[in-house]
Amino acid sequence: MNIIDGKKIAAEIRGDIKRQVDALKIRGVTPGLATILVGEDPASNVYVAHKIKACAELGIRSFHHPLPATSSATEIIALIDTLNADPQVHGILLQLPLPGNLLGETDRCINAIDPAKDVDGLHPHNIGQLCSAKNWQAIEKQNILVSCTPLGVMYLLHKSSIAIAGKRVVIVGRSNLFGKPAALLFLAHDATVTMAHSKTMDLPAVCREADILVAAIGKPRFITAAYVKPGAVVLDVGINRTPEGIVGDVDFEAVKNIAQWITPVPGGVGATTITMLMHNTLTAARRITSSF
Ligand code: NAP
Repeated sequence: MNIIDGKKIAAEIRGDIKRQVDALKIRGVTPGLATILVGEDPASNVYVAHKIKACAELGIRSFHHPLPATSSATEIIALIDTLNADPQVHGILLQLPLPGNLLGETDRCINAIDPAKDVDGLHPHNIGQLCSAKNWQAIEKQNILVSCTPLGVMYLLHKSSIAIAGKRVVIVGRSNLFGKPAALLFLAHDATVTMAHSKTMDLPAVCREADILVAAIGKPRFITAAYVKPGAVVLDVGINRTPEGIVGDVDFEAVKNIAQWITPVPGGVGATTITMLMHNTLTAARRITSSF
């Protein structure tokens, strides 16, 4: 068993990002990220605070906009319009989920973000670009803004020199945030991809086909030894708060000696997500600079 150390890999990538931010500043551009937090959800508050801290560490300017939970979609979109027009803002992050009364307005708010500033990679324009990209090289060359957590998974595999082409990949979970963009990224790496979900029949047998098994379910320790082929790579996206602390979707203790490679929780996939947000903010700032 080899552990994929997300913290170490994220630190390496942050070093590269910092150097590139410094180089961009010499050319007169300081990358800027605007964060919008609607309401007072404690977990969202912590996530946004971590994002602002990461900006400060990497020399990225941050502009935080807290809005009350009573805000309307029209008020959120008015703020997004202002940020779309602000030349100091290269990336806009609307922290999700929105409060319960606004959940049905999520797509309308996301769609109001200028796709060139959509550093969460959730705008249909960016999803469409990801969908049309021929391969990973094209995704990088075109600077397509890709959802941060699946992008982080790709960097974990690249940095661990784990081959993807030709492998059978099973992704459990089909969210817009993770499962669907992850499937497109694996396809772009020439993997054979299966997407599984709550209606999949005989899920353990489907998962045992996987050379690379990705769990993004939101159920603590759901993936047990019965789901894993010996020698597989197991990537755990889950973040579940339990009385014993944060645990993943994979039963780490039961799976670690079957898998060849495995990500821990915490310190695995989750450790790269904010780093990828910084990467996307740099990409967005660079795209604007290259059009000077
Ligand atoms: P989500 O929107 O919560 O959806 C869960 C997915 O799991 C759905 O596709 C659902 O299938 C599937 N599922 C639920 N129960 C299942 C079962 N019994 N068997 C098979 N599939 C099942 O997903 P998400 O937003 O991608 O989040 C998933 C997990 O990843 C959560 O723990 C979340 O906290 C974590 N996450 C972590 C990060 C990070 O930064 N590391 C980022 C995003 C998410 P249906 O579609 O059929 O309902």
